[in-house]
Amino acid sequence: MNLLDGKVVSAKIKEDIKKEAAEFTASAGRKPHLVAILVGNDGGSETYVASKMRNCELVGFESTNIRYGVDITEEELIAKIHEINLDPTIDGLIVQLPLPKHIDPDKITEAIDYRKDVDGFHPINLGRMQRNLPCFIPATPYGIMLMLEHYGLDIAGKKAVVVGRSNIVGSPMSILLARNSNPGNCTVTLTHSRTANLKEEVLQGDVVVAAIGKKNFVTADMVKEGAIVIDVGINRENSTETKSGFKLYGDVDFEPVAKKASWITPVPGGVGLMTIVGLLKNTLEAAKGTIYPKA
Ligand code: NDP
Repeated sequence: MNLLDGKVVSAKIKEDIKKEAAEFTASAGRKPHLVAILVGNDGGSETYVASKMRNCELVGFESTNIRYGVDITEEELIAKIHEINLDPTIDGLIVQLPLPKHIDPDKITEAIDYRKDVDGFHPINLGRMQRNLPCFIPATPYGIMLMLEHYGLDIAGKKAVVVGRSNIVGSPMSILLARNSNPGNCTVTLTHSRTANLKEEVLQGDVVVAAIGKKNFVTADMVKEGAIVIDVGINRENSTETKSGFKLYGDVDFEPVAKKASWITPVPGGVGLMTIVGLLKNTLEAAKGTIYPKA
């Protein structure tokens, strides 16, 4: 088994981003600027946004965290998004999910100017991604592709099985793996909770991507010998063993699956770190106007 090490890869790519950010700042007279809106006080969301902000500082971006209580209305949130859309000093905008029940995440996603949509969730970016056109790719799938690229894993022609079909991870991941690009060119099966004989499907995978949200869901008997296993899951459990008071578990039963896999991502230290890299890369591209030229 070889480790797909998010710590090593993210550190290397962040160094490159830092250099490019410094060049941008020198020529534009301002830093690339990411705004993150956080509604409510969900523990996981707090941690993710804090980490995104910290990483922005590390690579020389400006970052702003706008916080609202759970009682903010959908209209108020959309009004703020429209204001940010028009602000030329802000390059990227993300609204951390999940949102309170009274706010429709689809409406929020579509309110964000697709040229600032550095999470890559806007239908225009998703459509362009499917067409293999320049776009912001959703940060987690983007990070995974960067990881595969870094290790030079040749997945063309291989069978890939994605477990989970969410709009932010599973579905875009299946599109990227199937695209005529490098890495890519896999024959992809996208599975979900209504898939019949899931174990048999997953066993076909030369590449397996687990994005379910259930601790240790993918067990060794589901994985083919020599498979590349990508664990997207982040499952938090309270723990007295850690300073933070919680422990993270993936969707893959790591130890036994690692014995069969040729390559595998750990949790933590795998895809989560690469998601941040995907977000930072998108924000840099937004600032430089390389994907969508600045007006
Ligand atoms: P969602 O809850 O949106 O989607 C989960 C998917 O898993 C759904 O498509 C669901 O199927 C499928 N699923 C649920 N149960 C089963 C089952 N028994 N068999 C097969 N499929 C099943 O989750 P996300 O995609 O947002 O996140 C998945 C995991 O990844 C979570 O742990 C999340 O925390 C983590 N995550 C990690 C990130 C990172 O940076 N590492 C970033 C984003 C998410 P159906 O559609 O039929 O309901």
